[in-house]
Amino acid sequence: MNYDIAIVGAGIAGASLAAAIGARARVLLLEAEDQPGYHATGRSAAFWSETYGGPAIQPLTTASGPALRDGGFLDPLGSLHIGRTGDAAALDAFLAEFADTPVALDRVDPATLVPGLRREWRHGVMEASCAYIDVAAYYADRLRAARCGGAVVETGAALAAAERQNERWRMVTHDGRVFFAEVLVNASGAWADAVASAASVRPIGVQAYRRTMVQLLTDTAPPSTLPHVADISGGFYFKPEAGGRLWLSPHDETPVNAHDVQPEEIDVATAIDRFEQVVDWRVAKVERSWAGLRSFAPDRAPVYGFDAHVPGFFWFAGQGGFGIQTAPAAAQIGAALLVGGEMPTGVDVDRYAATRFARP
Ligand SMILES: Cc1cc2nc3c(=O)[nH]c(=O)nc-3n(C[C@H](O)[C@H](O)[C@H](O)COP(=O)(O)OP(=O)(O)OC[C@H]3O[C@@H](n4cnc5c(N)ncnc54)[C@H](O)[C@@H]3O)c2cc1C
Repeated sequence: MNYDIAIVGAGIAGASLAAAIGARARVLLLEAEDQPGYHATGRSAAFWSETYGGPAIQPLTTASGPALRDGGFLDPLGSLHIGRTGDAAALDAFLAEFADTPVALDRVDPATLVPGLRREWRHGVMEASCAYIDVAAYYADRLRAARCGGAVVETGAALAAAERQNERWRMVTHDGRVFFAEVLVNASGAWADAVASAASVRPIGVQAYRRTMVQLLTDTAPPSTLPHVADISGGFYFKPEAGGRLWLSPHDETPVNAHDVQPEEIDVATAIDRFEQVVDWRVAKVERSWAGLRSFAPDRAPVYGFDAHVPGFFWFAGQGGFGIQTAPAAAQIGAALLVGGEMPTGVDVDRYAATRFARP
């Protein structure tokens, strides 16, 4: 079957790109799993924070805000960045990093926002704009929009090999299905280098890292006003969830090969240990834990654009830990590069170009 654009990977990256392209091209979405959204997209912590990922990611997150907010996918949460006595310089540096951006950050006394906060957590900065993202609803919306725009979604269809013949790609899946497309988009998350290799394209060094989440009940139920709480030194974050629950992460980042990653007991134990050093609440029950893969290019910025060396091969990878909150802007950039259209405002698109990995 012939398509203009074949997108490999139907996570949030591939689905939202297909939706943004819409009827302007014949789009094929190839997904290895029977269940789209099974990997990173289905395992996120589900928040939108303009500071998360630092100044390289902030323009993408900020530009994505209106689409997520107007679509009803964001709910107010707020993020409280906290530090111990010795962390004053780290909080100053954090404020300085975002001083020239539209992100509003205010110094606060963290003890007024987190009951039972241990005394050494003296410093706080509030990021009021941080929000919950309804990831399931947003992802379903993007897949639906992709299908409505005419995209064909093939599941259980892992790309095994792709070959460039007469200015188009001949793609073969593991179960022997054959497809043709002029452009191959690599939106395969943690598998981005493997998919490049399958197309005889030189990998750029996308590395997957395990990140663990734990769902807890505590003997002191978190107040309904509790914001997302993040350690300025990157040791943990936690956020309140429905039913008086907490989602907690030890902010782990263990390099692993791309696979169906599961949580390790040591990471769950580390998360709880760190949590108990923050508040005097007791963990009453660990209800569940999960892990997912965050994948990064070598410079930790996303990669959107045509490969420097192989025609028709388009990178849409390296979404890191921010692929949901940046998805609308990323999809807009990808669609503009592929079929034309406006770029998101306030984003220096060139800094994400795949050509930065060109080799002599
Ligand atoms: C624990 C955790 C918490 C996170 N929290 C947040 C958060 O709060 N906010 C936020 O914005 N982001 C968060 N993220 C990051 C976010 O989840 C990812 O950046 C995003 O989901 C990446 O989307 P993706 O489509 O690139 O990857 P994926 O969702 O992994 O999709 C890639 C798809 O490609 C498919 N694929 C792979 N190889 C092939 C092949 N050969 N053929 C066909 N298909 C293939 C896979 O099956 C997969 O479905 C978090 C991530 C983790 C792990």
